[in-house]
Amino acid sequence: MMPDFPHRHLIGIEGLSPGEINFLLDEAEQWIAFNRSVRKLDDRLAGLTQVNAFFENSTRTLLSFEVAGKRLGAQVVNMHVAQSSVQKGETLLDTALTINAMRPDVFVMRHAAAGAAREVASVMDCPVINGGDGWGEHPTQALLDALTIRRRKGRIEGLKIAICGDIRHSRVARSNLLALRALGGDVRVVGPAALLPSTAELGGAPSFTDFDEGIAGADVVMMLRIQRERMEESLAERLDDYHALYGLTRARLAQAAPDAIVMHPGPINRGVEIASDVADDPERSAILEQVELGVAVRMACLDVLTRERRS
Ligand code: ASP
Repeated sequence: MMPDFPHRHLIGIEGLSPGEINFLLDEAEQWIAFNRSVRKLDDRLAGLTQVNAFFENSTRTLLSFEVAGKRLGAQVVNMHVAQSSVQKGETLLDTALTINAMRPDVFVMRHAAAGAAREVASVMDCPVINGGDGWGEHPTQALLDALTIRRRKGRIEGLKIAICGDIRHSRVARSNLLALRALGGDVRVVGPAALLPSTAELGGAPSFTDFDEGIAGADVVMMLRIQRERMEESLAERLDDYHALYGLTRARLAQAAPDAIVMHPGPINRGVEIASDVADDPERSAILEQVELGVAVRMACLDVLTRERRS
């Protein structure tokens, strides 16, 4: 195990120390300028096979893991789940064992079931990176969010950070609560009572059902999508007036700190959780910077987790 990051897999933020989180963020910094240059090719992962298997839809995460691996010189293969034997009833573990037999050097996966990445990691011989497991965790999203905040604000410690919307069904909220609190952020969650997790799950983070009160004075306003795919129908139906109560408009944003930044992991639903003029405001919105830094963070994770087998 490498001393700076003594973990074989990246399944979640849970279990990482603040020093280990900062180590990954520091490692990611080197790739930001590199990714802005014209020729983006490093060879540290040359000869390594990276398999991405996304059993749940993705735009940003899948594409950025593919871009990240290729920029590091890896041979990147994407499994096409819709055309795979998963459709014939193959279990997740049998699929994992099959991929493992092809000897990948790093395996990136997303799945609709919480706990899926941990289960798969237990049978794989290579590092596994969780690209989102149901409403479990989404560690690389939390890392790229932390990096975005650190670069825009110069620090995370002591910042008032409001995570708003569908907290209960969000793996992004779960991983961000763990990461940003570990790094000293003053994190609160804001949303309708039906979309808030239990007090125990919040681990002491304050929660608000009043949006204006929840974002008052916030340095960072992180908006989340309503995860209708993870809700019972009756709950989804009750969310019709969502925009009026919990949509981030320019008027609402005036409650936050005057230099507050707005974040969103994407995909955004314009006019639902966020108004277009807020999402598109380059001064306030960090949404596309999050996407940009996502590639750097994923390069860092691929590099760090494969270091041992390359040494
Ligand atoms: N893209 C993020 C995720 O996969 C957030 C979302 O889907 O709303 O969790």
